[in-house]
Amino acid sequence: MATITGGRTVLLGLLCGLAAAPAAEPIRVMLLDGESGGAYHDWRATSGHLRRMLVEARIFAVDVVTAPPAGADVAGFRPDWGRYAAVVANYDAPDERWGAELRRSLEDYVRGGGGLVAVHAADNAFPGWKAYNEMIGIGGWRGRDERAGPFWYYQGDRLVSDPAPGPAGTHGARLPFQIRNRGAHPVTRGLPGAWMHAGDELYARLRGPGIQMTVIATAYSDPANKGSGRDEPVLVAVRFGRGRVFHTTLGHDIAAMSCAGFITTIQRGTEWAATGRVKQAVPSDFPAADQVRTRREYAPPPGSNSSR
Ligand code: ZN
Repeated sequence: MATITGGRTVLLGLLCGLAAAPAAEPIRVMLLDGESGGAYHDWRATSGHLRRMLVEARIFAVDVVTAPPAGADVAGFRPDWGRYAAVVANYDAPDERWGAELRRSLEDYVRGGGGLVAVHAADNAFPGWKAYNEMIGIGGWRGRDERAGPFWYYQGDRLVSDPAPGPAGTHGARLPFQIRNRGAHPVTRGLPGAWMHAGDELYARLRGPGIQMTVIATAYSDPANKGSGRDEPVLVAVRFGRGRVFHTTLGHDIAAMSCAGFITTIQRGTEWAATGRVKQAVPSDFPAADQVRTRREYAPPPGSNSSR
């Protein structure tokens, strides 16, 4: 750099400024991670990927907030939600971990207009917390059953619910599957009608209140891979008070998160949750209906694999 004169540096700066129109003000985002309980969701690895894809969108300023580990005292954990336009939750914990005051602070934040993004196992968290389940729309595991609400899925071109009793939450092996765009939402506007997702858990038989919920993309849960035989919600938008929630059931591990479709929908979903609009363009590597497209720089190191 020493060879560049002051004048040329200024010129370079101007050119760079022209090439990438600077965002007026970055959108402040909290990436909430930590806890989890089991070894099967490696939030340390996936949070690094989530942070990277948010930063690469070039419209967000991202702070990572890590909750106390399982078993540690959470009394002093008081995230300053109000500093952020959206909270991206890469976080799963059982009911007893959050006290009334902490719960109410998140409820008030979203109800008052804050954005929330629930990533994959975030919809396993807090089965007994009524407002949280209203925020995410649907969830699974941790003992959820018909008391959590009906099953929700697509039948033909229609979202239906089914109050039949039974546990909530299943998935098969992590294979690639096709995602169907159900349209008419800012997050998926401009995306193709269908795209291929990298090998991932396809969550099925999720249950929940489904209040003010729009299912914006589905995937067919194949009985040949322990599936439900239904078109299951994979991308969901929820209104909670004045707030917006974007919920993706995708993203079990960093291999799944290397999918260009996953990266794009997280970037767009976070923008929508934070602002109600999506200004980001669809990238040229967005997957087609029949071909997985991953980004090499997000790929897991050779030989690595997550345990469940
Ligand atoms: Zn998982």
